[in-house]
Order: sequence, then structure tokens, then C-alpha cells
Amino acid sequence: MKEVEKVFIGGLKEELMEDKVIDESQLAPGFAEEIKKYGGKDVMTCLQCGNCTGVCPISLKIDYKTRNIIKCCQFGLKKYILSTRWVCATCYRCYEHCPADLNPAEIMIALRHIAVREGIIPPFVKTAATNLVKYGQSVRPDEEIDKIRRELGLKPVHTHDPSFKSVIREIQVLVHASKYDKLIGIQEEVKV
Ligand code: SF4
Ligand code: SF4
Repeated sequence: MKEVEKVFIGGLKEELMEDKVIDESQLAPGFAEEIKKYGGKDVMTCLQCGNCTGVCPISLKIDYKTRNIIKCCQFGLKKYILSTRWVCATCYRCYEHCPADLNPAEIMIALRHIAVREGIIPPFVKTAATNLVKYGQSVRPDEEIDKIRRELGLKPVHTHDPSFKSVIREIQVLVHASKYDKLIGIQEEVKV
């Protein structure tokens, strides 16, 4: 069996640190450049100080912390991280505290761009996009809310207002023109 060197990637996951062996075939050497292409800065400038993880509001809830994700990007460990970036809330707290001016939030957004183009799209994203082109908002309108509004003598929520149809139409045209419908796989929902 080929001898390979274990790679320490800074607290990513016990399983990965202790049990997994990473060899060159698992690395994507051009990953840092690919991230730049989609709007991220140079991940190689990260100092691994951990500030981003320290201020991230969701870091306690996730296995892959912000600093770890940046470290994986530096190594080119593309396949390990492409299914994790959706948990970022794009709150930009990490950006405010990054001494390297790296803007980790933009790295997360770039990772999403890359993942979507590789067909890695969580179902909730497709659902939100479908709702957007159908109702003009990412959450499906709730009939119960309309019922309560009627009882209170209020107008229906805007998505049920006939005058809002032109807004939905504009959203559909934009989604189609930007090819977002094709990218996310909701073409059948966008009748232009
Ligand atoms: S705060 Fe910036 S420099 Fe520090 S670990 Fe996070 S991305 Fe790297
Ligand atoms: S932008 Fe994302 S990674 Fe940065 S602090 Fe907010 S949730 Fe965490």
C-alpha cells in the first residue's frame, strides 16, 4: 500500500484528523484560484488566527468552523467542504474581525457558487427559489395568516394581492434572464 503522509488540518473533525489519510489525488490544486473567480479573496493570506470562528454566531452548532473551512481551502480539500458552507448566515461578523482583511463571508458565498455549479444544491434552496418565482418571496404564503388578517379587517398579504402579480412577473423575467432558473433547476416554474 502506498505510504502517505497524514495532514493536520486544524481541528476540522476528529474523524478527519485522526482516521483519514489525505493524499494528493484528493486535493484540488487550483481551488484557491477557483474561489477567487467567484468573488473570494486569496485564502492563502489567512493567518489561521481563529477570530472568524470566535465571532461566528453559528460556530458552536457546526462541525466545520469558519477557520477550518478556510484551512481546507488553502489545502485544496474541495470535496470535504462543499457540503458545509450553507450553514453560513452571511452576517459578516467574521469580516469585521479578520486581521487579514480576507472576508470569510465572501469565501462562503464563493463556495456556494462553486457548489451550485457542481450540482450540489440542498433541497431547501430549491424550495426557496421556487417560492420566489411563484409568490415573490422565499416562504410560501400561509392561508391561515390571510384568514386571521380577514378577521381583523386587513387586506390579504401582498402575495395574494392581484396588483402584486406584476412584481412576481418581474422576478420571473430576472430569474430567467440571469439563468438562475437553469442553474438551480426550477425552469419549469419560470414561464417567460
Ligand atoms: S479571522 Fe481571517 S485571518 Fe483569522 S482565521 Fe479567520 S479568515 Fe483567517
Ligand atoms: S458570515 Fe458566516 S462564517 Fe462569517 S460570522 Fe457570519 S455566519 Fe459565521
